[in-house]
Amino acid sequence: MLDKKLLRLTNKGIYCEQADVYFDPWRPVDKAIISHAHADHARKGMKHYLCHDHSAKIINHRLGKSNIETLPYGKSTSINGVKFSFHPAGHVIGSAQIRVEYKGEVWVFTGDYKTEKDFITPSFESVKCHHLITESTFGLPVYQWEEEVILADQINNWWKKNVAEGFNSVIYGYSLGKAQRILSVLDSSIGPIYSHTAINHINELVKSNGYQLPETKPIAGANKADIKNAIIVCPPAMREPAWMRKVKPYRTAMCSGWMAVRGAKRRRNVDKGFVMSDHADWKGLNEAIEASGAENIYVTHGYSTIFAQWLSEKGLNAQPLKTEYEGETNDSNTDE
Ligand SMILES: [Zn+2]
Repeated sequence: MLDKKLLRLTNKGIYCEQADVYFDPWRPVDKAIISHAHADHARKGMKHYLCHDHSAKIINHRLGKSNIETLPYGKSTSINGVKFSFHPAGHVIGSAQIRVEYKGEVWVFTGDYKTEKDFITPSFESVKCHHLITESTFGLPVYQWEEEVILADQINNWWKKNVAEGFNSVIYGYSLGKAQRILSVLDSSIGPIYSHTAINHINELVKSNGYQLPETKPIAGANKADIKNAIIVCPPAMREPAWMRKVKPYRTAMCSGWMAVRGAKRRRNVDKGFVMSDHADWKGLNEAIEASGAENIYVTHGYSTIFAQWLSEKGLNAQPLKTEYEGETNDSNTDE
């Protein structure tokens, strides 16, 4: 699988031997090119990291001060004759597809990506290539996303209804990506917006890169008497954290692509599920693959076997690729 090719799979990650670099490696290596700052893609222990400008501060915050070089979208850098560039992946702030070119052959490693536009993340950009390594987190037809304006209405209407019935609203989303997207759709005329410390940290880093977010108050120091008509944005938790006692009475909602499946809301023990994902849906995956023009498709994390089979049936040269990325998890904090 990928043997003798420009990019190949090793037990440390996807590897480009000509440049001696790894892409989002899961074991320590000397040189890592990182698609984005989620924990399953940006791991500790690399001697040198190359990532997009807007991922660097977040990686330093999460992994401790690291040896990081940055590159903006569309600019390229060369290592031993191999040209590398980053292109917007639409997944989270700072997320990039990695384009690799050597002697006229072009590969793209998508990392995680989302083709639907939202209000804050730089939009996905299609990149032409011969070989595409794509994720497939939501690679089944049941996964279909609504437009962001519709999601915004759904979330704000839920919040308004809770206010009218005397409840606060607790909304769950991962601290990098989902949380900023939730904040970007909230209508602050409905009530005060609070956020969890983990989210506040990421928000500050995101704002320092020039992104706009609404004012939020930290839930950590807030008084129970002040928390009225409020919405609290926080990372998903396995059980009720202590601070939630001062928010009572409240209703809860989870924002995740998995909410598209029956029973998901009940399993996560939330009152409401919003189908909001930072990954491409079925249509998005198929459109992105077609637009890339790639003849060879390697399908990683998600429904990789079944999705590769679907692509093969459409006449593409597709195969699954076993990596250690997790896609969108929503019952732990691993993807925050
Ligand atoms: Zn991710």
